[in-house]
Amino acid sequence: MRVVFVGPPGAGKGTQAKIISNKFDISHISTGEILRKHLKESTELGKKAKSYMEKGELVPDSIIMDMIRALFQSGKIKKNGFLFDGFPRNIRQKKLLDHLLNEFNLSINKVLVLEVPDDIVIERLLKRAEKEGRTDDTRKIIKKRLQIYHKITKPIINSYKEEELVNFIDGIGTIEEITEKISDILINYK
Ligand code: AMP
Repeated sequence: MRVVFVGPPGAGKGTQAKIISNKFDISHISTGEILRKHLKESTELGKKAKSYMEKGELVPDSIIMDMIRALFQSGKIKKNGFLFDGFPRNIRQKKLLDHLLNEFNLSINKVLVLEVPDDIVIERLLKRAEKEGRTDDTRKIIKKRLQIYHKITKPIINSYKEEELVNFIDGIGTIEEITEKISDILINYK
């Protein structure tokens, strides 16, 4: 099972990705989480990514692709597959990912798009800021991240649509309800 989760920030991708990856015993790969870990540990990579992340901008593709390649080469990805959360984030990353997977004789077999309107996403992220204190969860940066999602990330959906891989999921509802919808799609697919 090789799945990509797409959706605006605050759509619940991270929450669902954790649940689903546990349930299906696949690797959860969140580029945002990996980057935040680097930032916290002040690694070279973290230092390079910091200014982009603080502004809500995308980190350069080369940094992201090096991270992903390293993961594939590490042999740490589970046998049952993986779930990308927050990656790919633009057409170029999608193409580079296709190439990389091709090298390993693999391909993506499902793309799930979690849909939540902007006003709800903004509300959710401002609440998350109170709880988790993520520095990129301020109103200004949230707006920037949403703009980038609509302009730069969403085009990958069309590209995956051409490959007939996409399912849209209404991201409004309880965590359990959405997990069930996602599970139904993945179980039927399996
Ligand atoms: P996320 O946790 O997915 O919302 O990501 C948080 C931040 O990390 C984003 O606003 C970007 O600055 C950076 N980031 C995460 N994933 C990517 C990616 N695939 N490409 C570029 N930047 C990314």
